[in-house]
Amino acid sequence: MSKNITVIGGGAIGLCSAFYLQKEGFDVTVIERGDITDGTSFGNAGYVSPSHFTPLASPGVIAQGLRWMLSSTSPFYIKPRLNIDLIKWMLAFWGKANKKTVEQNIPQLNNILHLSRQLTSEIKNELGNHFRMAEVGCFMLYKSPETEKHEIELAEQAKRLGIETKVLNGRQVQDMEPEVEVITKGGVLYPIDCHLHPGDLMQTLKSHLIAKGAKLQLNTEVTGFEKNGDQVKSVITDKGKFDCDELVIAAGSWMPMVAKKLGIYILMQAGKGYSITYKNVGKNLHHPAILVDKRVAMTPMGNDLRMGGTMEISGINKNILLKRARAIYDGANSYYPKLGLDFPSADKIWNGLRPLTPDGLPYIGRHSKYNNLILAGGHAMLGLSLAAATGKLVEEIACNKPTSIDIAAFNAERYN
Ligand SMILES: Cc1cc2nc3c(=O)[nH]c(=O)nc-3n(C[C@H](O)[C@H](O)[C@H](O)COP(=O)(O)OP(=O)(O)OC[C@H]3O[C@@H](n4cnc5c(N)ncnc54)[C@H](O)[C@@H]3O)c2cc1C
Repeated sequence: MSKNITVIGGGAIGLCSAFYLQKEGFDVTVIERGDITDGTSFGNAGYVSPSHFTPLASPGVIAQGLRWMLSSTSPFYIKPRLNIDLIKWMLAFWGKANKKTVEQNIPQLNNILHLSRQLTSEIKNELGNHFRMAEVGCFMLYKSPETEKHEIELAEQAKRLGIETKVLNGRQVQDMEPEVEVITKGGVLYPIDCHLHPGDLMQTLKSHLIAKGAKLQLNTEVTGFEKNGDQVKSVITDKGKFDCDELVIAAGSWMPMVAKKLGIYILMQAGKGYSITYKNVGKNLHHPAILVDKRVAMTPMGNDLRMGGTMEISGINKNILLKRARAIYDGANSYYPKLGLDFPSADKIWNGLRPLTPDGLPYIGRHSKYNNLILAGGHAMLGLSLAAATGKLVEEIACNKPTSIDIAAFNAERYN
């Protein structure tokens, strides 16, 4: 009889974990509060980007963050609150935003990003490209000399990690974008990056899992657990009880709440971001681009165009601050002035919650409190980029195999 495994959370991390576990012969049940049609893993910018090897907590981010916090339209915002978890998280974040920690963490991120990039292509080859994956690289575009200097330094660092980069002037960038006008001083192209439509990827994984016999227990909320010593015996939900031999918690920004029901403390904050998607734009970008001065991400997805950004640490809620969404739209138009797209009504603005760890590394691995519990979350701005590798690692951990890469740095107990 095959071993049964329950995955809590049907986001990119949960579904990729289910994908690899199912392939290895596990009897997989995914328990998801929603119906896997929306959420953080759907409206994101769609980048699978080894170029993003620098964690959010890096030198300079605190000073810049404090400056930005004074502006209501800035890309980064922490809503001041007297909340003990937020205070603990901020102290840990500040403690990690230094050169030494960043230099320690870059190789860890680089390893998992490369593994995931390769596995994402393998998923495309296996399931078919039903999710508009395009392997054309990603631009980092800049307008100011300071940003240019910073991006060229990052490109040098990328080269030392073995990542190919192309530094281009404004005219060369324009030559690569024949359909739209681009106003930029220049940019760095990372050819290894690719992008896709995250909602279509989620739909593809969901259909594949159902076809292969995985059980997707939708519209079902996990409310507690039954334990027996160091074993989690079953997951209690509003739709009944599910016994499990192995359990994976992949609940995104809600991981702390779910883990708390098992007496486990997880240091995490939710970082809200917005996106706006325009369908069937007449003239589209040929390459995705991060507009670095504005912290805006632009992604062509077939005939559609998505713009996204902002990092708002304001707790778990779905509130939209229109000014911040407007700043994304204005940022996009300052680089691409002739897009001719209108600012949408509030109901057309999507938002999602990035699960942020203080040091920018995810939590992946077993937890010492239970012998059948695996945690997989905290992927911040990289959940799509790292979903395939995380799923593969979860499967290797569940099978007690050696893991494809060293995962010691992803230990979920590193803040205990
Ligand atoms: C604007 C924006 C742009 C982004 N762009 C990119 C990008 O280009 N590339 C990239 O790599 N990443 C990007 N990200 C980050 C990425 O979207 C996330 O890291 C990723 O989606 C997290 O996936 P997850 O599966 O961990 O969490 P989620 O997608 O949030 O999934 C967790 C699931 O758990 C479920 N759940 C929670 N609690 C319970 C419970 N008690 N019972 C049952 N179910 C429960 C939730 O309903 C949810 O569906 C972006 C994020 C934002 C906001």
